[in-house]
Amino acid sequence: VACLGDEATCSICLSFFMDPVIIDCGHNFCRACITQCWERPDAAISCPQCRETFPQRTLRPNRQLGNVVEIAKQLSVPAAAGGDLCNAHQEPFKLFCNQDQTLICVICRESQAHHAHRVVPTEELRKQLSSRTRN
Ligand SMILES: [Zn+2]
Ligand SMILES: [Zn+2]
Ligand SMILES: [Zn+2]
Ligand SMILES: [Zn+2]
Repeated sequence: VACLGDEATCSICLSFFMDPVIIDCGHNFCRACITQCWERPDAAISCPQCRETFPQRTLRPNRQLGNVVEIAKQLSVPAAAGGDLCNAHQEPFKLFCNQDQTLICVICRESQAHHAHRVVPTEELRKQLSSRTRN
């Protein structure tokens, strides 16, 4: 999650992925964006990002990325607006667990489930996201 903002953004529509799919070269796009790209009958089946061409259209849903996007969206809500609370502890999500790719609160952090996991403060991720948006 070094670059959550970049990772969560589609290079065609430049906003958070909607229903992200991965294509054969390993690049990700919104399903709607890449489908539209490949819709034109005269268009070659190529990656809009790296221009690699493919013999056929293969779209695989990228669930892990979908998860990252959900987190990026939650983090893009300013902290002052509250954001979401941990269901289990009614505490604000202050940390992101790298292992589980999920937002956790300070009490989750101390629990057995996440104790040994690497976590990142959500403030840091938020900063990355806002610097990305400003570009
Ligand atoms: Zn898109
Ligand atoms: Zn590509
Ligand atoms: Zn919690
Ligand atoms: Zn964890």
